[in-house]
Amino acid sequence: MTITYEYGGGLYVNLTNRCDCRCVFCLRHNGNKGSIYADDLWLEREPTREEALADLLARDLKSYPEIVFCGFGEPAFRMDDILWLSDKMRESIPELPPIRINTNGHANLILGRDVTPELRGRIDALSISLNGSTPEKYIAETCPKDGEKAWEAMLDFTRRAAKYVPRVVMTVVDNGLSEEEIAACSKLAQSLGATLRVRQYISE
Ligand code: SF4
Repeated sequence: MTITYEYGGGLYVNLTNRCDCRCVFCLRHNGNKGSIYADDLWLEREPTREEALADLLARDLKSYPEIVFCGFGEPAFRMDDILWLSDKMRESIPELPPIRINTNGHANLILGRDVTPELRGRIDALSISLNGSTPEKYIAETCPKDGEKAWEAMLDFTRRAAKYVPRVVMTVVDNGLSEEEIAACSKLAQSLGATLRVRQYISE
């Protein structure tokens, strides 16, 4: 079971396969169990928070530029465990590197509460998938199970989280986006208190 793995110098944490979307660009399509990031990311079962903590503390955490909760699914399904892990790591390692979560921004929808105040002092950065400047484009790219409600939830989460998390970045995948679409996404991200990053499309 791959709970943590290194990629691009950072330490990535994989806690769940669960997701409420089916993005057209998702690396998990066609039964893929790994990706360019690591060979075997599909979890036969989710690790407990204690197993994840033991795995993390077995590494030299201070040696990484950042710790990224990413998953081979949507990490917000384990948000309570992520916050617990942040607390435990900070207790053990006083000079912990920044902690980022890569997320689709549906945490409040998934948890049924506003979790954003709980991110303060625990999460240093969020990378939130925007994926489109309108609900129609967003839904076409990400196919969320809750449809337009998921779009609204993602925007609301971003706006709220920007009050508590020092660095909030929204991302779009460049699979042929027009300059107008990128400009519209950038404007939307800024209106929510975030900045936009255009990610390269990865085809495998
Ligand atoms: S939100 Fe992430 S894990 Fe879920 S389908 Fe989209 S790319 Fe895949």
